Amino acid sequence: MIEKYAEFIGQESLQSIIKIAEKLRGVSILHVNSTREGGGVAEILQKMVPLMRELGLNVDWKIIRGDSSFFRVTKSFHNALQGQSDYLPPGAFETYDKWQSVNASEVDTDYDVVFIHDPQPAGLVDYKKRGRWVWRCHIDISSPYPPVWEFLRKRVEKYDAAIISVPIFGREDLKVPQFVVPPSIDPLSPKNVAIHRVTAERILRKFGLDTERPILTQISRFDYAKDPVGVIRTYKLLRRHVDVQLAYVGSPASDDPEGEDVYRKTVAEAGEDKDIHLLILPPNSNLEINAFQSGSDVIMQKSVREGFGLTVSEALWKGKPVIGGNTGGIPLQVINNVTGYLVNSPEEASHYSLYLLRRKEVASRLGANGKEHVRQNFLLPRHVRDYLMIMSYVMGIR
Ligand code: UDP
Repeated sequence: MIEKYAEFIGQESLQSIIKIAEKLRGVSILHVNSTREGGGVAEILQKMVPLMRELGLNVDWKIIRGDSSFFRVTKSFHNALQGQSDYLPPGAFETYDKWQSVNASEVDTDYDVVFIHDPQPAGLVDYKKRGRWVWRCHIDISSPYPPVWEFLRKRVEKYDAAIISVPIFGREDLKVPQFVVPPSIDPLSPKNVAIHRVTAERILRKFGLDTERPILTQISRFDYAKDPVGVIRTYKLLRRHVDVQLAYVGSPASDDPEGEDVYRKTVAEAGEDKDIHLLILPPNSNLEINAFQSGSDVIMQKSVREGFGLTVSEALWKGKPVIGGNTGGIPLQVINNVTGYLVNSPEEASHYSLYLLRRKEVASRLGANGKEHVRQNFLLPRHVRDYLMIMSYVMGIR
């Protein structure tokens, strides 16, 4: 299986990863996060853990648990850290700490290297017994609500290193070494392999889309950060000029309690319009997501806050131009007029969507550039190599 990546990254690059991994044989590695499915972190771990095992590494992946009050707190932390809101449920810090203690007694962290993903399990470090601990931050912590950051920072300071996805997320007030590692997509996943146009169209038709007319798609959880209402507004502006359809495809994530609320608001904004398709797919609908990304004319990721935004790389990899919110990791992927367009409003988003729908040759040029950009920068083997280097660093292996 691992050999198959050579097709994308070349033999030499693959061999170098195999060599680095050899030095880490025998090291026990643990990843911990808060959901097995839904959202980008689970998406990455589902692919990364098997690949690391194929490289001969001794890797486990564990999930922390919590009740609905815990996930309401961690969602409020998430929003506060991304500078989106300063609302915290009463007793938030106590609830957080209580569940760290519960999980510390249930999750065995007796490993040489422990990767803790995101804020939800970050407090486990208070119970650390041994090993080198790395905090892997997938969200934008560049302008957080200070009380929440201070609370988290005290815990992050206990780690041996931190990893952020985008250079601007780096924090001067953190004393631990910080590495920049953008996430990645797996080109061999059913979500990202090339599928035949006929297959994509058949799936789109199954969901009620007319494949003879243009399709604009956003794939995202129903989260305010992804601006689903802004996506509907973009579509409505665009509709004045072109007979387009909109697909907004989302799925639930067990650590995101706000989804239902956001979904209801999105439905209300959409109103009665047969060309707006708000779809909730079960987790792991990989082929369906692939079909939507491959079979649409333009992909949108109109986030107003974003960590990295895996969906952007997924779409570019399918040769589709992306209209992306100018935030978080999206500008790493969407380069203006090279792989897509960065936008700050529904007006801008609809302007560039119209341009791409009318100028098909521009759309395919940007899509081709995007695919190459992803191939060079955002595929899984590069991501694994970066983690191997960081493990070597924290373990002092040369
Ligand atoms: N995703 C999915 N089904 C959905 C919505 C999203 O499989 O209905 C996937 C999407 O393809 C991507 C991940 O979930 O792989 C979302 O990652 P991203 O970094 O874009 O956003 P996050 O949800 O982590 O904020």
